[in-house]
Amino acid sequence: MKALPDTTGHYGDFGGMFVPETLMAPLRELSEEYAKAKADPEFQKELDGLLKDFCGRETPLYFAERLTEKLGGAKIYLKREDLLHTGAHKINNALGQVLIAKRLGKTRIIAETGAGQHGVATATVCARFGMECVVYMGAVDMERQALNVARMELMGAEVRGVEAGQRTLKEAVNEAMRDWVASVENTHYIIGSALGSHPFPMMVRDFHLVIGREARKQILEKEGRLPDLLVACVGGGSNAIGLFHPFLDAPDVRMVGVEAGGDGIIPERHAARFQGGKLGVLQGTKTWLLANDDGQIELTHSVSAGLDYAAVGPEHAFLQHEGRVEYTYATDDEALAAFKELAQTEGILPALETSHAIAYGIKIAGSLPKSDIIVINCSGRGDKDVATAAKHLL
Ligand SMILES: *Cc1c(COP(=O)(O)O)cnc(C)c1O
Repeated sequence: MKALPDTTGHYGDFGGMFVPETLMAPLRELSEEYAKAKADPEFQKELDGLLKDFCGRETPLYFAERLTEKLGGAKIYLKREDLLHTGAHKINNALGQVLIAKRLGKTRIIAETGAGQHGVATATVCARFGMECVVYMGAVDMERQALNVARMELMGAEVRGVEAGQRTLKEAVNEAMRDWVASVENTHYIIGSALGSHPFPMMVRDFHLVIGREARKQILEKEGRLPDLLVACVGGGSNAIGLFHPFLDAPDVRMVGVEAGGDGIIPERHAARFQGGKLGVLQGTKTWLLANDDGQIELTHSVSAGLDYAAVGPEHAFLQHEGRVEYTYATDDEALAAFKELAQTEGILPALETSHAIAYGIKIAGSLPKSDIIVINCSGRGDKDVATAAKHLL
């Protein structure tokens, strides 16, 4: 497969740069600086050093022995991104981008956040590099994720509540974009997933490739061969593309992305873009999204704020189109049941986002032979979701 995206950010028919004219020059400047950084061994060395000593890489590839035995089928391994600093994969990207912002001479960082995990990762790297930090967050999410709001504020970030529309992630992205159009001179916008205009989906993916590269090396060490199946949850798609991409050249490795099925595939009650979605443009990119017949973006729902978004990253749209990656969904109830199962068989509380991937792993493992190997990306830990899980499960 040839390296994608092309120079204007297209993955086949998907992706691109659908932004206001004022952002075209800064996005081009960002693309150029990123290309230079990528080719600069000093940049890579600084990034690798911080990933190791500040963030705690490499993360373990853990054999979930009791879960495997209980399900009686394929061996299940978990890639432990939940053990990373700040509790999820998000810091891989936030760290990479803050280093790019520094190279660009920017002094101020803005970000959007849903569950607050990306906001926390961004506030963390801003504190580490002495950057001013403003995080946009829907007012509803601020209530649901009060702990993460406090974490950001304690690290010196300003959290700006967004009262527009559904008051969740989509509106927070709109506000961040509005800020950026006015402040791009001194400000870099750290997008939290493999979404938005080129070069963001590519750059965010690249900063998460470390997940799949490590997993590939680790499974070869432990099992002497590549896995049969990779599973990851898909919000914007950053943890999934980070795990999947380094295996795309291995035709025998099957890959499944798991979206948020909410209350089931009923309009406005889920966030599974590949089920009942359509092709369109949202927030800078052409991809699969949830919209009604008039083209209005639909309301979405998921028990996990981090998967509750109307569009999927354009590279996933491409991989689905090519038939290279399969996409399915888990409902809120299935995710909550998986949360409990992993907690009680392995002593790991996964994030509710992650629980969607675990749910699919649990569903499929028993029907696969014991000689098969599954790697599930454990994208984050569930501390932030304890109140929600307790409400449903206790
Ligand atoms: C944000 C988040 C996700 C969803 O984002 P992707 O970009 O799809 O990875 C998944 N898991 C956790 C733990 C998250 O914090």
